[in-house]
Amino acid sequence: MIDNNIFHNKKVAFHTLGCKLNFAETSAIGKKMAEEGFVKVRPGEEADVCVINTCTVTDTADRKCRQAIGKFHRMYPNSIMVITGCYAQLKPEEITKIEGVDLVLGANEKFSILEYLRDIDPEKPAEFHTTKINQIKEFKPSCSRDDRTRYFLKVQDGCDYYCTYCTIPFARGRSRSASVAETVAIAHEAIDAGAKEIVLTGVNIGDFGVHTDETFFDLVKDLDNIERDVRFRISSIEPNLLTDEIIEYVATSKRIMPHFHIPLQSGTNEVLKLMRRKYNRELFAHKVEKIKSLMPHAFIGVDVIVGVRGETPELFEASCQFIDSLDVSQLHVFTYSERTGTKMLEIEQNTPVVERKKRSDILHLLSEKKTKAFYESQMGKTYPILWESRRFGDNMVGFTNNYIRAERSYDKDMINKVQEVTLGEWNSDGSALVIKA
Ligand code: SF4
Repeated sequence: MIDNNIFHNKKVAFHTLGCKLNFAETSAIGKKMAEEGFVKVRPGEEADVCVINTCTVTDTADRKCRQAIGKFHRMYPNSIMVITGCYAQLKPEEITKIEGVDLVLGANEKFSILEYLRDIDPEKPAEFHTTKINQIKEFKPSCSRDDRTRYFLKVQDGCDYYCTYCTIPFARGRSRSASVAETVAIAHEAIDAGAKEIVLTGVNIGDFGVHTDETFFDLVKDLDNIERDVRFRISSIEPNLLTDEIIEYVATSKRIMPHFHIPLQSGTNEVLKLMRRKYNRELFAHKVEKIKSLMPHAFIGVDVIVGVRGETPELFEASCQFIDSLDVSQLHVFTYSERTGTKMLEIEQNTPVVERKKRSDILHLLSEKKTKAFYESQMGKTYPILWESRRFGDNMVGFTNNYIRAERSYDKDMINKVQEVTLGEWNSDGSALVIKA
């Protein structure tokens, strides 16, 4: 029998880079470690183990991971340093050479961290354990809480799409998910633990069930039918997988929030083709119109990548005009960076780095304009809001069902409570709306 006591009261520090899915996974790893006796390190204490969950979406992400490793090694020089996540899956050997690293775990190994920790000898050189990405078939849904009040339900992992700029399929493997029943059971566990809002996460969640005979729509319907006091948000979903059926369903649903996050990536068909995306801009515009015609109050967030190879100044300009014409609420702007092993590198026409930065600034301004207009269109309207645990001076914040950030005076008893509120004007720093008394 394995002796579990070796981890009793050991201190662990976590650091996560990257997307919501990574945060959900760090939380799931933390939960497993806590069950075996680990406690989270407090400020001023020494950590026995550091877990850094990495991202590799851009070069900057890789650099930030290396910086984080250095920082944690300086903070906790005697701890066992474990590196996992997408960067660890893609460049395990490179990471073992970074000072302070003891153990590198790939995509398939990260949830077996305790077994590896039992065997580790920190006196020996750093070791890495990874599985070839195309051999990873396993998937277990998991749910974890962030440091606010929201829970993240991981419903899917991996991606089969191979967009030309993206390394995620190399880092996370093929698309996979569990059954609707298993996923709904995990949602019930989270609700039992107090979840009032659950965000569905994954790499390509619309692909849920792609290798079974179920669909993402089946999952959405079954979650909506949970007769409990809870609401769900669909996080980022590919426009070609966000079916009209799903949009129509959300428009009348009890528990699925009128909030969409749809990656566009470019507003011209030429660049979408170079990216090998599976839709054109007409389809995207149709999805936005469909949502807005049924739910004029819906929040729509849109991902855009600027400065990819082949995006000439003219194409960028056309892309901006297209995006400006869309009735969306926010842009998430990403600046292209070259990734080893991706098809996009075969395109000769390159965008200088300073130009990429300029384009990013332009779209950030456009995003601010869109968000301001959306918020102002919602002033005076009444929505349910879930208050969060974070405190901002004398105030607390929450998000309405349609993802408007609002604030009220702090009241501990309101944390994780849903309240019907009427939205007022901007707060003093323009980061949220105040609520009307
Ligand atoms: S859909 Fe494209 S961009 Fe998104 S994870 Fe898959 S390959 Fe990457």
